[in-house]
Amino acid sequence: MPECFYHYFEQSPVEKIKFLSHEFLIKRDDLLHPDYGGNKARKMYFLFKTDLSKYRQIASYGGHQSNAMLSLAAFARQKNLEFFYFTKTVPKFLRKNPNGNFKRALDLGMKLISTNNYAEITEGKMPDLPPNTLFVKQGLAEPEAEYGIQLLAEEIRNYADKNQLNEMSLVLPSGTGATALYLQKHSCFDVYTVPNAGNTNYLRKQFADLEKSEDFYPNIWDFEDRKYRFGHLYPEFYEIQQKLLQETGIEFELLYDPKTWLLLLRNFSEIKQPVMYIHSGGTYGNRSMLPRYKRYFSLS
Ligand SMILES: *Cc1c(COP(=O)(O)O)cnc(C)c1O
Repeated sequence: MPECFYHYFEQSPVEKIKFLSHEFLIKRDDLLHPDYGGNKARKMYFLFKTDLSKYRQIASYGGHQSNAMLSLAAFARQKNLEFFYFTKTVPKFLRKNPNGNFKRALDLGMKLISTNNYAEITEGKMPDLPPNTLFVKQGLAEPEAEYGIQLLAEEIRNYADKNQLNEMSLVLPSGTGATALYLQKHSCFDVYTVPNAGNTNYLRKQFADLEKSEDFYPNIWDFEDRKYRFGHLYPEFYEIQQKLLQETGIEFELLYDPKTWLLLLRNFSEIKQPVMYIHSGGTYGNRSMLPRYKRYFSLS
């Protein structure tokens, strides 16, 4: 019998909400698992199905508060594998006072290796690792991530069928763009996404790395007049995250969701209704982002 997503996770619920007098459907992928949060659970689906018996450790690399890092740390812990994570040198204050995803991943047994040769690692030159190491790309941007996203597309399709929705727009934030790309590839509904880790050109390049056919590329929204840098703090980001929390009771995260919601509100009247926003998780990271915003506001 083929295994399916539901052997590892419950299907995520869809909630109807009202925000700033518009109606939205929210696909609560953030509820899939507390540590595998959101789209990382989807992207890791292939790992659950891979025979890992020949591996003793998992290795990956990326930022020191990354959601993929936390997800892999939790996964490795569950599978009794060691987890090595390469990152740039960690700031002193964080080493002394770990918080957020960083602390949780260390608590889950992550072996952190901060390196000055980080640029080489991102170019694919991994330091010597034992042969029985499973290597996972930054942000889980593996081609196999497609399998779990395909199941997300199927869940959405089933929801639409059940509720007799012939049309719908799907909205979600992008980092590497893998989630949005694979969602569009497997969904008959229009997908809209927002670049957070670079500009529109960068995101299109990311799509091209994963998929040749432009037919599968999601629509991209961005501001022409305003640049946001990933991981930086912006008052309007905090404001919309708090407004969403107050009006809907749903907690969103502070790195990807705010810019995506700002652009969704700006473009709302142009796209097919209803609009389904995919909540891609990441809220554990608010434990480090909210104190950063507190400091930011008290200093400014
Ligand atoms: C990783 C992540 C994203 C970006 O996903 P990609 O597949 O890399 O585009 C968006 N939102 C949250 C909360 C994430 O953790």
